[in-house]
Amino acid sequence: MLDLQATDLQLDQLAHRRGNLPEAAEARSLAVDHARLRDQEIAVATEIADLERDQERADADVEQVRQRKDRDRKRLDAGQVSSPKELESLQSEIVSLERRQGVLEETELDIMERLEDAQRRAAIIVADRTTIERQGRQVQGARDDAWAGIDDTIQAVRQERELIAGEIPADLLALYEKTRAERGGVGAVEIRQRRCEGCRITIDPADLNRIRAAAADLVVRCEECRRIQVRTAESGL
Ligand SMILES: [Zn+2]
Repeated sequence: MLDLQATDLQLDQLAHRRGNLPEAAEARSLAVDHARLRDQEIAVATEIADLERDQERADADVEQVRQRKDRDRKRLDAGQVSSPKELESLQSEIVSLERRQGVLEETELDIMERLEDAQRRAAIIVADRTTIERQGRQVQGARDDAWAGIDDTIQAVRQERELIAGEIPADLLALYEKTRAERGGVGAVEIRQRRCEGCRITIDPADLNRIRAAAADLVVRCEECRRIQVRTAESGL
């Protein structure tokens, strides 16, 4: 009975260890970091695509103004314009186009700087994500190894438990399982130095007499915690 209780406690501990592996917690935390970086990566990629579109538009705007200015200047240089009023208007348009080109080139430069900044951030995010993926693979590997090791032990202890349980009468086994479920995983305890090892309460003399008088195969339970009490040479009876 006590051997069965010992293997059950061992199985409980193994299950607890399996469910609380630091490697598993780390793998979960890395997965969260990875998802966050993926989101950032998508956001910055969208930002880059928008800026690239803005850049194309700004380039086209500058080119359009430049071409118009060149055309005006060619007309001026070719001496095609003779009327002073028209000449003045053409010169003034060239000045205005130059100013416009300057403004558009500023915008173009600004977009280029923002694009470069976004590209730099994208490169950092990708590098971080790559690092986390590598760490994630390592941690997952360590976690899987640890799980496999624990599972092997669990299997071995379960086989041992089957053998032990096979020697115990079915009704006693059922009582043990029920008590164990109700009493925090401990269904059977030793009486040690006249004390219940389950609730740690010293058994009073009347109960001690009852236990002493009980046949060896009779199931004795603690009056306090209702656990199955096992009598051993250490019981002090
Ligand atoms: Zn007790």
